[in-house]
Amino acid sequence: MSGMKIFSVARGVSSFLRPAVPALSSHARNKYVYVNDKEDAMDWNSLTERAANAMFWTEIARGHMVSLAHLFKEPATINYPFEKGPLSPRFRGEHALRRYPSGEERCIACKLCEAICPAQAITIEAEERADGSRRTTRYDIDMTKCIYCGFCQEACPVDAIVEGPNFEFSTETHEELLYNKEKLLDNGDKWESEIASNIHADHLYR
Ligand code: SF4
Repeated sequence: MSGMKIFSVARGVSSFLRPAVPALSSHARNKYVYVNDKEDAMDWNSLTERAANAMFWTEIARGHMVSLAHLFKEPATINYPFEKGPLSPRFRGEHALRRYPSGEERCIACKLCEAICPAQAITIEAEERADGSRRTTRYDIDMTKCIYCGFCQEACPVDAIVEGPNFEFSTETHEELLYNKEKLLDNGDKWESEIASNIHADHLYR
């Protein structure tokens, strides 16, 4: 078998795992596996076929046929940003603070999101209003710390903080990614219809 690489798998395994596999049967020791291509057949048909392939460059013709076939297939790419692929309702994008239809903010300043955030990206300050309700006076998220785990959204008892469908919020400076309450409420107003339909689509699993 000159020029042909043959490995005895059983022998290799037995020497590598000797402490775990102290002894293999003689049948396993004699089992070989070919790891290279088989030698070309030398019969008349195979010889003429290989000669024809070499003379008429049939590989090139077959390659062109593959390219031609792909011309008539639906393209695998999309023309972003004019076309966008579908997003899961569970997609976790840019954060937003939501309001009730009355316009009242949902957040009740329980600080569960702040407590659960593993990146400690959320900072909340709160005070009691004249009507006795509790609301935030400060709600900041450092988006450069956020790891988009979605824990804040899971912890929130009133679906106030959510990770919306927007993934196009890259900035040129770090400061632009330090979101305050105003920015988060603006995001909520802007994306409310998409956020509400995503929450509805996922409500059976929450
Ligand atoms: S966003 Fe939700 S979890 Fe966070 S403080 Fe407000 S109500 Fe609590």
